[in-house]
Amino acid sequence: MTAMETRRPRTHDVDNQVDELNDYSLLETDPALQEALARVGAEAFMPGLSAYAEELGRAETFAVAERINRVTPVLDSFDKRGRRIDRVEFDAGWHQLLTMYRQADLVAMPFRDERPGRWTAWAAGFYLHGQVEAGTLCPATMTQASIPVLRREPQLWDALREQLFSTEYDGRDLPLAQKRSIWLGMGMTEKQGGSDVRANTTRAEPVAHAGSGSGGGRGGEYRITGHKWFFSAPMCDAHLVVAKTPDGAPGCFFVPRWRPDGTKNAVDVQRLKDKVGNRSNSSSEVEFQDAYGVLMGEEGRGIPTIIEMATYTRLNCVVGSAAMLRQALVQALHYTRHRRAFGKRLVEQPLMRAVLADLALESEAAMQLSLRLAHAFEHQDDPRERTWMRLVTPVAKFWVCKRAVELTGEAMEVLGGNGYIDDGIMGRLYREAPVNSIWEGSGNVMCLDVMRAVARDPQAFLALLDGFEGDLGEDRASRAGLDALRGLLSTPPDQQEALGRRLACRLVLLAQAALLRRHSPGSLAEAFIASRFDPQWGAVAGALDTRGLDVDSLLQRAFPA
Ligand SMILES: Cc1cc2nc3c(=O)[nH]c(=O)nc-3n(C[C@H](O)[C@H](O)[C@H](O)COP(=O)(O)OP(=O)(O)OC[C@H]3O[C@@H](n4cnc5c(N)ncnc54)[C@H](O)[C@@H]3O)c2cc1C
Repeated sequence: MTAMETRRPRTHDVDNQVDELNDYSLLETDPALQEALARVGAEAFMPGLSAYAEELGRAETFAVAERINRVTPVLDSFDKRGRRIDRVEFDAGWHQLLTMYRQADLVAMPFRDERPGRWTAWAAGFYLHGQVEAGTLCPATMTQASIPVLRREPQLWDALREQLFSTEYDGRDLPLAQKRSIWLGMGMTEKQGGSDVRANTTRAEPVAHAGSGSGGGRGGEYRITGHKWFFSAPMCDAHLVVAKTPDGAPGCFFVPRWRPDGTKNAVDVQRLKDKVGNRSNSSSEVEFQDAYGVLMGEEGRGIPTIIEMATYTRLNCVVGSAAMLRQALVQALHYTRHRRAFGKRLVEQPLMRAVLADLALESEAAMQLSLRLAHAFEHQDDPRERTWMRLVTPVAKFWVCKRAVELTGEAMEVLGGNGYIDDGIMGRLYREAPVNSIWEGSGNVMCLDVMRAVARDPQAFLALLDGFEGDLGEDRASRAGLDALRGLLSTPPDQQEALGRRLACRLVLLAQAALLRRHSPGSLAEAFIASRFDPQWGAVAGALDTRGLDVDSLLQRAFPA
């Protein structure tokens, strides 16, 4: 007996407390994800994804993820002698997780690899990573999304292609030419307006070089002056920045951290944002003091250029939020399978089963939608797939990101008081969730975007609905949803805008219902449709009629015990 034990008699045994979930494969425990990969013929990617899922699921990886959200990035504005460096210092774990992601070939693989299923496989990898740590996915997302835009700029693309495609992590702060691999960010949002990019005031003046006339034009050099109110991952090797050319039209500029002559570019980091979540990632405010930039695309075409990038980042928001939903569900299932109350395990209590079943339905629907969207990105030469990309991306971004906000809170409550204590993953998921709903186009902006797309091409919208109808068959409730959406086209235009959220909710639920009907067990699809098209549905999770539903199978599929 130790001295301590003689002084203090034991008051109790620690009992009925659930150990943390660690050391599991995030892929082996996800049958629905495995099916989705098999469906698109992505077998070739399975060994890599399996290894990654094992690595991510280790206790040490979860610990690193936890630590880098506590030991957060710090800005060093100056070196010891007062020279401006604008450098952000990170915990070593940040570099470790980005190294893992890059080595798993998740930054550029779908653009380089030509094997079928590449986009689904990439989305699966992103989904696995996002279950463990989300902040690192910010620079990863922006880098990936810059590729389709940069590909159209021959000079830049020739110079950067290998560094973008590289699977070797290089975290050094050096001029582009000296880096083995690079990261890219984006800068649109200013103080006076984020969603309304046209309100930008940052200016870009063409630089005339000897013999080049007035300078400027596509691929030409510009001096950029102004600011960005949000500028995430300022340690990226370059950002794509929106600024107005002298004619007042927005252009998109490639702004590297270092100028070609080896001096630091005049992008001054004013401070780092103190964020609710997403704390491992640094988001900053910056000022451009005659910063060096190169025009991408034509003058005046900055918004379409950056919006193309945003189409890809929005996909990542959807997949990332599906990942958070999944991790919240898995944690809730693990906990309730081991915690007892009122003489039974929580997972055996009928009312808790209704909550868990609802979380499981939502999580599978979000995953299926994410991967289906990724598939559309792979086949965008097909007009039907382009319609999916154009119409379903904004509603999925609107919906799945919002569902993650609500349901990470619900899953937190499943863990009772322990869920609210900040020594586990639930608090981190809960704080992280809203950002995907805000950045890259907030909820209303997504609804307006889909309304615009529907107005521009109503035939494509109707064809999309016909496709859903094929999967949904004779089901009365979902049919009513389809009819309501078709009816929206005859709503007077001046009334349509206010109905944007109604349209988005209906469209996305129909897409999810059709996907579940096609790909998931019949009882799961039935339960989804019966609840989501029930006029009573929506106020809280778990208000689900589980009578007649095989909850055991549903939960077993969600996360095999
Ligand atoms: C952590 C974090 C990191 C970020 N990183 C970056 C970055 O790296 N680069 C970058 O450029 N930006 C970044 N952003 C900015 C982000 O993209 C913007 O905050 C977002 O686009 C919204 O813009 P805003 O903040 O100016 O809000 P506003 O545009 O003022 O919008 C406020 C609200 O009004 C709604 N709204 C806007 N217009 C309408 C309308 N016509 N009808 C109805 N509702 C409307 C919006 O949906 C929103 O809910 C980041 C944001 C966060 C939180």
